[in-house]
Amino acid sequence: MQTILEDMRSGISEEGIRLGGEILKQGGLVAFPTETVYGLGGNALDAEASAKIYAAKGRPSDNPLIVHIADWEAIRAIVSEIPEAAKQLADAFWPGPLTMILNKSDLVPYATTGGLETVAVRMPVNPIARALIRAGGGYVAAPSANTSGRPSPTKAEHVAEDLNGKIDMIIDGGTVDIGLESTIVDLTDGAPTILRPGYINQEMLTKVLGEVEMDRGLIAPESGVHPKAPGMKYRHYAPKADLIIVEGEAEKVRRKINELVQQQISEGKKVGVIGTDESLSYYKDGDVRSIGSRKDEITIAQHLFGLLREFDESDISVIYSEAFETPQIGQAIMNRLIKAAGHQIIRV
Ligand code: AMP
Ligand code: MG
Repeated sequence: MQTILEDMRSGISEEGIRLGGEILKQGGLVAFPTETVYGLGGNALDAEASAKIYAAKGRPSDNPLIVHIADWEAIRAIVSEIPEAAKQLADAFWPGPLTMILNKSDLVPYATTGGLETVAVRMPVNPIARALIRAGGGYVAAPSANTSGRPSPTKAEHVAEDLNGKIDMIIDGGTVDIGLESTIVDLTDGAPTILRPGYINQEMLTKVLGEVEMDRGLIAPESGVHPKAPGMKYRHYAPKADLIIVEGEAEKVRRKINELVQQQISEGKKVGVIGTDESLSYYKDGDVRSIGSRKDEITIAQHLFGLLREFDESDISVIYSEAFETPQIGQAIMNRLIKAAGHQIIRV
């Protein structure tokens, strides 16, 4: 299949959106930018389109898709009821990087919800995404536009790396704003519960809803409690190299990483280091890269997935990373980083 590449980095092309919308209506797949990561879109109400998404990504079929809408009114057709909490969250955070789990209506095929009676719904803010959703009929199922297991795409180039030749179209909207997938909140089962941390954090949600819990399967993976979002149980974002997080007081972390790097080099191995603008000069050897600045935490979120992909292009066998427990997005960043590291953490 020839994948059409639409460049919208310097503005929305009406013609390109029309074409993308047509492709979606005919059951095809279009990758597009959102404020979180690039999405791989298909018509959410078409079971065959959803099946194509799973096939293109190599995604396990029990891992449900998020349905993207562009207008509040659109939600009525795909859910069986709208709880008060959903209205409050929509008022506060939509359009934006928040996904809500609600009970689904009959209109949404099980192929889209991975067999569940619930549906994940999000209204993105990115103007290209909104225009495409409207042009494509109003309901676009869109998981991250990467091969299952690889880091999520934050640029159109990442999408092309994984999916060129497998999907109908890629819309290039430049680098995304946030770089981490949306926060997921379940509103179908007792107290509102965060199933996946993201830019919208627990404190922000609590201000709106009063009480918001964190899925126990997220907090203590070793406890044997399974995460409630089916996708959270899979190994994800894993780079080819072994990734190990070193956590603790800044100075001790730097010393420990330098020590580990020396040890690996003496064994003839190539080593990578993930530091920040503030710590870069402390690392003497290895392939040292900055993920961003601790003074501007969003830069760390924005570069995480791209950096993991960059390391995949080198023949490095071990990467040591600092931990990034920054105030607002730290929990989301660490959730992705810990998964990428397969839970390998050294505490100093
Ligand atoms: P992605 O599209 O790659 O951002 O992944 C979507 C995430 O949403 C996965 O972790 C899914 O398991 C989760 N998800 C989607 N629909 C539901 C649902 N109905 N209930 C719980 N989690 C869901
Ligand atoms: Mg994903």
